Amino acid sequence: MTATPFTATILGSPRIGPNRELKRALEKYWAGSIERAELEAVAATLRRQTAESLAAAGLDSIPVNTFSYYDHVLDTAAMLGALPARVADIADDLDRYFAAARGTDEIAPLEMTKWFDTNYHYIVPELAPGTRFSLNPAKVLAELKEASALDVPARPVVVGPITFLALSKAVDGPSNMIAPIERLDELVAVYAELLQLLADEGVGWVQLDEPVLVTDILDNVAELADRTYATLGRVARRPSLFVATYFGEFTDALPALARTPVEAIGVDLVAGGVSAVAAVPELAGKTLVAGVVDGRNVWRTDLENALAALAKLSGSAGSVAVSTSCSTLHVPYSLDAEDDIDPAVRGWLAFGAEKVTEVVTLARGLRDGRDAIEAEVAASNAAIASRRSDPRLTNKPVRSRISSITASGSQRGPAQARRAAQNERLNLPLLPTTTIGSYPQTPAIRGARAQLRSGKIDRTEYERRMKAEIADVIRLQEELGIDVLVHGEPERNDMVQYFAEQLDGFLATQNGWVQSYGSRCVRPPILFGDVARPKPMTVDWIIYAQSLTDKPVKGMLTGPVTILAWSFVRDDQPLADTAAQVALAIRDETVDLQTAGITIIQVDEPALRELLPLRSKDQDAYLKWAVDAFRLATSGVSDTTQIHTHLCYSEFGEIIGAIADLDADVTSIEAARSHMEVLDDLNAAGFANSVGPGVYDIHSPRVPSTEEIADKLREALRAVPAERLWVNPDCGLKTRQPDEVTASLRNMVAAAHQVRAEIS
Ligand code: GLN
Ligand code: ZN
Repeated sequence: MTATPFTATILGSPRIGPNRELKRALEKYWAGSIERAELEAVAATLRRQTAESLAAAGLDSIPVNTFSYYDHVLDTAAMLGALPARVADIADDLDRYFAAARGTDEIAPLEMTKWFDTNYHYIVPELAPGTRFSLNPAKVLAELKEASALDVPARPVVVGPITFLALSKAVDGPSNMIAPIERLDELVAVYAELLQLLADEGVGWVQLDEPVLVTDILDNVAELADRTYATLGRVARRPSLFVATYFGEFTDALPALARTPVEAIGVDLVAGGVSAVAAVPELAGKTLVAGVVDGRNVWRTDLENALAALAKLSGSAGSVAVSTSCSTLHVPYSLDAEDDIDPAVRGWLAFGAEKVTEVVTLARGLRDGRDAIEAEVAASNAAIASRRSDPRLTNKPVRSRISSITASGSQRGPAQARRAAQNERLNLPLLPTTTIGSYPQTPAIRGARAQLRSGKIDRTEYERRMKAEIADVIRLQEELGIDVLVHGEPERNDMVQYFAEQLDGFLATQNGWVQSYGSRCVRPPILFGDVARPKPMTVDWIIYAQSLTDKPVKGMLTGPVTILAWSFVRDDQPLADTAAQVALAIRDETVDLQTAGITIIQVDEPALRELLPLRSKDQDAYLKWAVDAFRLATSGVSDTTQIHTHLCYSEFGEIIGAIADLDADVTSIEAARSHMEVLDDLNAAGFANSVGPGVYDIHSPRVPSTEEIADKLREALRAVPAERLWVNPDCGLKTRQPDEVTASLRNMVAAAHQVRAEIS
């Protein structure tokens, strides 16, 4: 039986709590200071508040089962009986789930990786040859029951089978192990069972999330969509099926999916255009769920435009429902808490709650005509006009400086010549040792920051304490015998926020928290206007550190791509243009550091991989502007100033050529877990500059032995000549304990000495 089409919905919602209630409860539960019942009560309250507020706002279909104690992909694995065998013996279901997510003293956690091109991390399901899928519907049924008690029109949401398998990884098999997607038919049978169960519960609509259909992760998506949804469509007793896609424009899989019996299809109309969708004849008779409200950025919707798009679509589909482009998991809860934001800019924004209102307004406009929402359209137009004409959106001097620098090309000489000049000036030993930037953010540091915020201490006292921390870190590195020192970054709350707070064109929120993974939340700054640097941002700290030692201290900056990736970025101009403006600010900082006598400057780009477009056809253009931005940021200094960069969090495969193109003098790169394979890949890409493949994993508290690090170095020397090899950990040390750091670095320096002796 086909359920009545809905008209206004969102694909999912934030769950960490408007004031991070879930985060706090989770952390207390993990620390053993509250009982399971108390955690569950917090979670139930949050779920109830979410469902009630969405219904009160006027949505006629409410997503449920979008709550998660940690991650929705892990929830799906649990629902499908696909948790790894190593947690199977844990009797308590919640503790079993948390063991898979976070590990225990004895059990390694599952891996975690970025959810498509967002900054949300999901848990990667492991499929072993022995994994037998079986339905475990307790969570979805419980959340449905809660929603029906509230009498809201609930629509359960689950990750679809194609996406689930595409994001899973095969483990424990022979080397020719089968790819997870080969198990599709087996898994679809479990989903069929789920559909029957939901039908028995009286569910009208179910949402299956299939973002993978609009990416190039799998190459035969049209066929997979056809096979899966033809089968699920044939299930005799089932709810109406809504297959949601997001994060990409819909191409070949859309007609295929539309030929199956599914009743509704969701398309992301922020990522892709309306015309392509309107031209698909197979959509006639389907409900098209039109994602016209941006679910992952913070800008207010242009209602006039969105309404026009909806009108265009309504001719081609059986019915049109208005929606966000994706779950609003990726934006903060609401603007309500933001009374400090510049009122003009506040009017340009829409967070989660405001987006729901936009959806409801548009649905009303679509049903009753534009006149019915005249007031809302007028307010939207006024906000858009105010944004367009705001003087902060264009900084002419910045724009003309960028074009003149870009036109005159890079001032730096060829890499070989730079290396020779730097060697002569810096006079470092072979296999120089260094660290990536941060040292442990101790309770004293975090306490000082909190006291500054609350007014307990003033700026002078805060700076005095930070300088004391810097002096400690310099002393420690000298004592350990490290060759190139860092100041330790105590003054930085976050490597992006620190810069955003000092640059024009950014603003900070008070309560704009977004889940990054598990209980971890971030508060991305909003990049709303042209970016400019009113004054130096790091120079005082770095020259203070340099004044304490004769060894070189690295200047430490965040690169333009990473600053963009971890902010909400303006959507009114190409990302490439915005990146160039950030790059110019960083460039000015490198020149100031050089003038102050700093000889080595590191520009971190850990998020280079993260912004890589999901469609391969868009990747080259991205990599070109990303590399251009990095080069703009780093080419203002002379050949004798050594530029470092740092990359982590990724499979570098697709971006390895771009890493070589960055042309940094020294690249430190995460490699401890990927066994130095990255060096061979770099060689294959023609990379011939210096490289520091991380010699130990900083994500774990484990202290690596000298011998183990020495082995890593010997292994690296097979791929890279000693003249080009650096010795460093995988990443910054800010999340580690001081004693672990000291012990690990002591072994790292000893290993470098040992291997130096072997080769000289
Ligand atoms: N310099 C930064 C640090 O050490 C780099 C962090 C990162 O790569 N994410 O903390
Ligand atoms: Zn890193």
